[in-house]
Amino acid sequence: MTAQTDLLPLSTAQAQAWRDRVLPAPEQIAEGTWAVPVPIPDNPLRYTYSYLLAADDGVAVVDPGWDGAPRLDALLEGLRGAGYSPADIVGIVVTHYHRDHLGLVPALLSLQPDAWLSLHPHDIASVEAFRTRASHSTQGSLLALSENLGVPEERVRELASVFAGTAESASRTVFAFDWPDALLEVDDGMLLPVEGRTVRVLWTPGHTFGHIALHDEETHTFFSGDHVLPGISPNIGLDITSISHSLGDYLGSLDRMRGLPEEVAVAPAHGFRFSGLQVRAEQLSAHHDQRLEELRTRAAETDDQSVYSMCRGMQWARGFEGLSGFQLYAALMETAAHMHHLGMRVPALDDTDRTS
Ligand SMILES: [Zn+2]
Repeated sequence: MTAQTDLLPLSTAQAQAWRDRVLPAPEQIAEGTWAVPVPIPDNPLRYTYSYLLAADDGVAVVDPGWDGAPRLDALLEGLRGAGYSPADIVGIVVTHYHRDHLGLVPALLSLQPDAWLSLHPHDIASVEAFRTRASHSTQGSLLALSENLGVPEERVRELASVFAGTAESASRTVFAFDWPDALLEVDDGMLLPVEGRTVRVLWTPGHTFGHIALHDEETHTFFSGDHVLPGISPNIGLDITSISHSLGDYLGSLDRMRGLPEEVAVAPAHGFRFSGLQVRAEQLSAHHDQRLEELRTRAAETDDQSVYSMCRGMQWARGFEGLSGFQLYAALMETAAHMHHLGMRVPALDDTDRTS
């Protein structure tokens, strides 16, 4: 977590709701463009902004949000408010494969089977990996991973059961669908087929390897997904298929923000709309520099260079002792990504290395 300063909220209602920890109302954010908050159950982020883009022949949906009937209701109500029905959906764009973004895709596709679905091929691969890995022994692979990370025996079981539960429930629910015929693999620089609009894809690997952001060149809106968020620093290091280079990828993707026009309105997946993309990208970059510095200090202080030991020596919002279950796992993966970036040895990652 990083404190946010110098960011100018572009929606008082969204910024207020974020501060008050409540769900904001859907709102129109630009011509033919709406933000619809879709709740996330039991999660401090509370909601994902799903964005609706009016097209000449219907409407495109960016990041439909977490699966389940109450969330679908929220999205459909937002759609109705913008003047559309599910039959008007021409396409769905997913910035990355996480459940709070992709969850409602199968439900939307069953309402409108002709819609195209676009995401980056690396995130398609991550979904596939999730499906395959969940059907194998997640427990066993996580035990091995935990042992490689230097996790004490009494905590290995805690991590294994959390991870097995997550992978199993995700593969049974959110990832249990067939890709539509119109599966569109996007790549950097490509224009999305949203008729009458100029929506360009930016490949921004880091939070996931296939994470994308979208630049709507006419309304000057930048849909940042989870790449750049106000007030929070996205987790780096959690991707199931490619943990090893995620921090390097992420810092590179932050650098790319300099190439965007300064005046863009940032429409993130969480938090609130703001201006100051470059300022925010620099803050996030500085946050990671500071984490790397903490690691260097820790490494100089102790002979135990395991991921668990390094993680224990770093600063966490509620302290290391406050981390348990999934939060502990996330912290370990984030530490591992930072260690790998510094060239420190991370045994679990040596087998899963990739070239990039
Ligand atoms: Zn998210």
